[in-house]
Amino acid sequence: MDLIPPASSAVVRRRFEQQARRDTAPEMAVRRWLHAAGVRYRVDVRLVPQVRSRADIAWRGRKLAVFVDGCFWHCCPAHQHWPTANGDWWRAKLEANVRRDRRTDRVLAEQGWTVLRFWEHQDTAAVCGEITRALDGADARRAATRPARCLPGTRPRPSAGGVRRTIGHRSEGPVGSIS
Ligand SMILES: [Zn+2]
Repeated sequence: MDLIPPASSAVVRRRFEQQARRDTAPEMAVRRWLHAAGVRYRVDVRLVPQVRSRADIAWRGRKLAVFVDGCFWHCCPAHQHWPTANGDWWRAKLEANVRRDRRTDRVLAEQGWTVLRFWEHQDTAAVCGEITRALDGADARRAATRPARCLPGTRPRPSAGGVRRTIGHRSEGPVGSIS
């Protein structure tokens, strides 16, 4: 699929180009919060060979991947917006994005990754609270599954993978702070 909609207006084209696909403001806010909390991480991380999408933030050792999804590009239910100009093109494009997200989630989960997806509209502190809890959980799992000695034939148990969209998912109303 072409990257730029055909015969698009200058306005649409400009908007398209201005949409940073990474290092977005919400993502940067999350990164700053984590950094200030002493959490170290990698950004824009290639995860597994079968998945083209890169995680916005990830911890390979813990197999934890974080995506901060843009409301427009990933079809947030609270802020879904279908452009009218080139409507068919946009619908196909955005629906393909969502399909790719779900495939990414599935493949990663199958390989033992925990996937956290957040919407860009979510509260930074709440998002980071979820992330740090997931990191703690991954550490606890690793500590529990790490064999005391390497016995012949022992293998680490696969870590519990899964996909969580923990805050604001399918919310109908405004989503803000989560207690
Ligand atoms: Zn949204």
